[in-house]
Amino acid sequence: HETTGAVVALGPDASGIKVGTNAVVCSWVGCGSCAHCKQGNEHLCGAPNFIGVNKPGGYSDYVMVPHPRYLIELGDLDPVKAAPMSCSGLTTYSALRKFGSILKDLPLVILGAGGLGLMATGLMGKLDFAAPVVVEIDTAKRSAALKAGASAAIDPKDPDAAQQIRDAVGQPVLAVLDLVGSTETAELGLSLIEKGGRIVIVGLLGGDIRIPVPSLPLKAITLQGSYIGSPAELRELVTLLREKGLPDTPLDCRPLDQADAALSDLRAGKVIGRVILIP
Ligand SMILES: [Zn+2]
Ligand SMILES: [Zn+2]
Repeated sequence: HETTGAVVALGPDASGIKVGTNAVVCSWVGCGSCAHCKQGNEHLCGAPNFIGVNKPGGYSDYVMVPHPRYLIELGDLDPVKAAPMSCSGLTTYSALRKFGSILKDLPLVILGAGGLGLMATGLMGKLDFAAPVVVEIDTAKRSAALKAGASAAIDPKDPDAAQQIRDAVGQPVLAVLDLVGSTETAELGLSLIEKGGRIVIVGLLGGDIRIPVPSLPLKAITLQGSYIGSPAELRELVTLLREKGLPDTPLDCRPLDQADAALSDLRAGKVIGRVILIP
């Protein structure tokens, strides 16, 4: 569901894009008639036709796109490097947008420096946001986060990790992005967040949390989930990157026929950044 390529043919009723144009596929195709779809939030549709999820996707030589509005022109951007924009780029962009302009002056705490964490860190530079503080258990991923632009990369297993995070932020922690989504990370986020702060959870690892209900109003905190992002946000993101260039996140390019091995490496935690499969 993260696909880019050149348009090779148009259906009889399709118009608005030329054969040969490089584009990113917006995979988030909804039913078109529910309240979410009518609001432009097709990624939240309850009866989705997502390309690469519910319909055949990018692990192939060609992909069918149902309407030209799901193609976003890349201009001069490299289609290989731009491929992760339609999911990991959009997911992190949409999550970052939920914090608003506070991130210009306040360092965000990012929990997790996998593909999404490195993408978020790279995008923050393009958005002129303050450099984030990244929290990650893996040493190699911590150094990748620093290379991607984090101001600090902290090991949550250190006994004084919470204090290290507060020191690195240097002001009250008001913004936490949880890209792991486990009991440990959610509890860490809740322990760090100060009055009026916001925690956005994107990670899907699993677990549960218990929180004292009155702490929500008393601390006036927002605990918010974020899932992918809207087609309009993807368009916004591509427009931004056409102006500022793609984030410099690590890519690992392999031939399409090695998809299976790539997925095994990913499962084993052996991938830094994103794998790109090239047909
Ligand atoms: Zn719908
Ligand atoms: Zn995805």
